[in-house]
Amino acid sequence: MSIINNIKIIKDKIPNYVNLVAVSKTKSCDDIMQVYNTGHINFGENKVQELIKKQKVLPKDINWHMIGHLQRNKVKSIAPFIYLIHGVDSLRLLIEINKRAFENNRIIDCLIQINISNEKNKFGININDFKIIYNKASNLKNIKIKGIMGMATYSKNKNKIKEEFKKLNNLFNKFKNKELNILSMGMSNDYEIAIDEGSNMIRLGSSIFGSRENKV
Ligand SMILES: *Cc1c(COP(=O)(O)O)cnc(C)c1O
Repeated sequence: MSIINNIKIIKDKIPNYVNLVAVSKTKSCDDIMQVYNTGHINFGENKVQELIKKQKVLPKDINWHMIGHLQRNKVKSIAPFIYLIHGVDSLRLLIEINKRAFENNRIIDCLIQINISNEKNKFGININDFKIIYNKASNLKNIKIKGIMGMATYSKNKNKIKEEFKKLNNLFNKFKNKELNILSMGMSNDYEIAIDEGSNMIRLGSSIFGSRENKV
């Protein structure tokens, strides 16, 4: 299957209201351009270095999504152009994004990452702490909390994945409003379940670009 076929098939399959982020980490600019040339402009990367390198040479109308863990000392380098930061997991990080957004005369859209799986190595805040961060962020004028993001446990157990996505959707529904309207959940192996459970933004890498040969 070609990359172009893959993205066409996925787009035909998902509902219109679901936004697709093509996760291009480890993939070449040529691969990205194949997808771009179908009219797709939303791409996700998880490493700042790689993101900056690609952003420099690829078309300027691409919406770049930072989907990986973001360190505070790297915010400065993506603040001029980043479209949406998915993995925000602390107030300190939000404060830094706000500061760098202000310097660039921008408002940067952010998603708060919630840890819905029991895996210790997954980033994100505890679901019960969302309200605290959300309220404290309300006086940061150069960021907008546009929604929440989460990753399910990597598992073959569909019920487990479903339960985790359900938890995230419940939280989303409690806080949903005009501004907070993005629920980013679902990857190549679980996006159908995620959409069933209310996702309106999915992040797909391998199902579009093919496997990453064990590179993360
Ligand atoms: C790599 C990655 C994805 C895409 O993973 P696939 O399984 O290739 O679809 C989605 N979200 C995050 C946060 C990732 O790091």
